[in-house]
Amino acid sequence: MALTGIQIFKLLPKTNCGECGVPTCLAFAMSLAAGKAELAACPYVSEEAKAELSEASAPPIRTVTIGMGDRACKVGGETVMFRHEKRFENPPGFAILVSDTMDEAEIKARLVRFKLQYERVGLTLRPDLIALKADSKDAAKFSTLVSKVKQDSDGSLILMSDDPDILKAGLAACGDRKPLLYAATKENLEAVAELAKSSSCPVAVKGSSLEEVTELTDKLTAAGVKDMVIDSGSRGLRQAFEDQIIIRSAALNKKFRPLGFPTICFPAEMTDDPMKEALIASVFLAKYGGIIVLSDFQGESLFPLLVGRMNIYTDPQRPLATTEGIYDIGGPNENSPVLITSNFSLTYFIVSGEIENSKIPSWLLVKDTEGLSVMTAWAAGKFVADTIAPFVKKCGIEEKIKHHKLVIPGYLAAESGALEEELSGWEVLVGPREGAHVPAYLKTWQP
Ligand code: SF4
Repeated sequence: MALTGIQIFKLLPKTNCGECGVPTCLAFAMSLAAGKAELAACPYVSEEAKAELSEASAPPIRTVTIGMGDRACKVGGETVMFRHEKRFENPPGFAILVSDTMDEAEIKARLVRFKLQYERVGLTLRPDLIALKADSKDAAKFSTLVSKVKQDSDGSLILMSDDPDILKAGLAACGDRKPLLYAATKENLEAVAELAKSSSCPVAVKGSSLEEVTELTDKLTAAGVKDMVIDSGSRGLRQAFEDQIIIRSAALNKKFRPLGFPTICFPAEMTDDPMKEALIASVFLAKYGGIIVLSDFQGESLFPLLVGRMNIYTDPQRPLATTEGIYDIGGPNENSPVLITSNFSLTYFIVSGEIENSKIPSWLLVKDTEGLSVMTAWAAGKFVADTIAPFVKKCGIEEKIKHHKLVIPGYLAAESGALEEELSGWEVLVGPREGAHVPAYLKTWQP
């Protein structure tokens, strides 16, 4: 049960030293209760208070990590029903299905498609998991598949079989990759629980209804298993969608611990139509899939899913921002144009993309506007003559060019006069309002 600010305050040192970044312990307690501060920011909390506060502040949906190292996939840990309430924490993992009954060529092709990745606003978007299914029901065959995939891919793994012996064989072939064991059911619960405990691997729990899932997670918890992922068993879109909402709501609003785990969904088992499958996946992406298993990856469906995931799982209170500085595009020289823009990532990528399209090498100055776009930053007083001039003087661009001409975004036209006063010796040129017009504008450039 979450503690109130006052309950948290009682456990703090009450010295008001201010080292946590706020002036008083009470203010810090209120920030903690609102989820806006980390307990670690106070260096003076006693160990007992730490234990009590950590338990109380543990997210109502457990965070589960599948895999190891850089490619580990972390799911769950969510604290809100809706993104605008705070933010969503851990994006769902997308998994590609590979069966041990597929031929070599097909397995190889899927592992190649698993490597599909895209660059967008400075981020690399790619899928996360490979779900290995023991359709052959043959432990040796499954183990061979796991070894091959482990060798040829660094993705996190899901081992899929109802038979604990086959899971055990797959686990042995996995080495230290810490796969998700799929799945514990009422028929194999004890054996799979043992496997999960002895290997410290997370385990998926599959029931035929949410009541059955609740019984199973209770039993696994009693057996000492902590890291679980829930499969409600539904394979019809409507029921599966309702299950996702009930699970999230029960965990967050009712603090119902037996359903306080991330989920796994199977669009792969809901349709044979690849486009429909992508649409179903997009439903679980929005609400509230933890792992989404697809029958295959194709660029035309994977890319929009990855972009959708990026959009939903960025923090709405922190716009994506690019680092302030000088960006050289296309190998500019001392006579090349100098443009300036804000550090909202989307603005930066649009402007830099259009400069690239123009094929005219240029210097692009990116001013820190706290991730706000040009107009918003201007309205907030963060992208005006008073802030732009000191940045231009300090950033070092004058050492790279012979001319003193600065192109500002068309939306900042009202700042041009004040900016010329602040930047003595510079000529301030008003560029286009829209990024799409940058190439035509640059073609008229004269140093
Ligand atoms: Fe209080 Fe700790 Fe913050 Fe100091 S650092 S004001 S003791 S909460």
